[in-house]
Amino acid sequence: MADLITYDAWINGDWHQPVGGEYFDSVDPTSGKAWARIARCDKRDVDHAVKAAKHAFDAGEWSSMNAADRGQLLWKMGDLIVENAGELAAVETQDNGKRTADILPGLQSWLAESFWYYAGLADKIHGDVIPANVTGILNYTRREPFGVVASITAWNSPLLIAIWKIAPALAAGNTMVIKPSEHASASTLALMKVLSELIPPGVLNVVTGFGQEVGEPLVDHPEVRMISFTGSISGGRRVAEIAARQIKPVVMELGGKSPQIVFPDVKLDDAAHGVVMGLFPPAGQSCVAGSRLLVQKEMQDELVHKICAVASQARLGPPLGPDTQIGPMANKPHFERVMGYIEQARNEGAECVLGGKSAKPEGTAGWFIEPTVFRNVSPEMQLFREELFGPVLAVVPFEDEEEAVSLANDTVYGLAAGIWTGDVTRAIRIAERIQAGTIYVNNYFNSATQSPVGGYKQSGYGRENGIEGMLSFMQTKSVWLSTQHGTPNPFG
Ligand code: NDP
Repeated sequence: MADLITYDAWINGDWHQPVGGEYFDSVDPTSGKAWARIARCDKRDVDHAVKAAKHAFDAGEWSSMNAADRGQLLWKMGDLIVENAGELAAVETQDNGKRTADILPGLQSWLAESFWYYAGLADKIHGDVIPANVTGILNYTRREPFGVVASITAWNSPLLIAIWKIAPALAAGNTMVIKPSEHASASTLALMKVLSELIPPGVLNVVTGFGQEVGEPLVDHPEVRMISFTGSISGGRRVAEIAARQIKPVVMELGGKSPQIVFPDVKLDDAAHGVVMGLFPPAGQSCVAGSRLLVQKEMQDELVHKICAVASQARLGPPLGPDTQIGPMANKPHFERVMGYIEQARNEGAECVLGGKSAKPEGTAGWFIEPTVFRNVSPEMQLFREELFGPVLAVVPFEDEEEAVSLANDTVYGLAAGIWTGDVTRAIRIAERIQAGTIYVNNYFNSATQSPVGGYKQSGYGRENGIEGMLSFMQTKSVWLSTQHGTPNPFG
């Protein structure tokens, strides 16, 4: 216990021990050992944080600041992210096992860019003068912040998810309370330490702990006016139910079961590389992971053979290992859950043609799963329908374009899809018909601060990134101003 790092809650610009005095362990997925203790907050800490955020909003130091000045501070926050990228990446690697080599470049470029982008946008979002069809009236709109907004985040990419919410929310003038996942809270707290020198106390707050003990009272708090949630469908459903009691708007960034559709007119090596790249490097622990391979029947054997050849070469290992290409599952319960799905797929009759086993690279706790490929998967199987969030590919053949589209859309999810084809007219045609918020043609996993992301169907609603990402954190007010003197007596 003595050598564990202690993380308290970050409230009103300072560290706070939880009112209940309890902590829980954060476990390093590489060693399987606890490395930090995290404050187990409850509704009293939530109330403290929300009140601090409300006070900061009402004080106006941030919310009423000239938007251009707010933009300048956001710009400096981007610079701070770059300066502290190494330290932030190290914390996240220890906390969720993500390879530092994957986190660091993002922090140094497009995650810092998120602050720079919204720094520029801060003073460019404005209302309009409306040519309302009413005599003697000037009607204009204002774009205003909500006040206190809540952000609830998942464990797979805590820094990315938090920054995608923090930058636009702050640019819009809101104050915020963040609840990170119990499985990966430390990097969000480390981020607070980095940003605090630029932000007035209370503008950003972090309460840690469990969904029911912290997430629910946060969503339910009457002073929280809007929620941005990233997580599973079941978590999102619960949050939406609670938010509905007080008619609070919610942005939902939920899971996916994204198809990769491969047509015979593409170079098979390219498609094989793309399918492997779209799933295995983060061990499937990405919301947009392309976990369903839909392939035209005649090429199934050859493509699966190539995919297995590429995927089987991947080196599993500790996330800091210089040769490591795939890291561990981020936590033990998740590892067990994915292994359970693999077992279930076998029981349902799917044929495992690669992997399907856990692995224990030297010096690790063994929460690793080999890149796994299943054939003979049918749409009724769990493997086709449910998000595993692991390195498991389900292969389903199709006869023609019509069947490919139908299989791709045969899911409650609608986060992303990949199309591999050499025919641009086919690409455009299919991109129109797939019900998903992001479509990749002959590439996968790209994203940019300027471009909106979000889900169709049960993968969520609302958008992050781009101009829409900032508008999600604002509400529109319509002002009616009389341009005439005197008000006629309505009964005269
Ligand atoms: P969960 O839904 O389990 O948890 C997400 C967050 O919600 C956590 O902070 C969790 O807290 C909290 N939470 C859980 N229950 C409640 C509740 N009743 N009330 C309020 N908050 C609650 O998702 P995971 O953390 O397991 O993340 C993986 C999921 O996230 C996958 O489905 C993945 O696809 C999705 N995801 C989506 C992304 C997108 O942009 N669309 C990006 C990244 C991930 P606690 O940790 O205590 O459970």
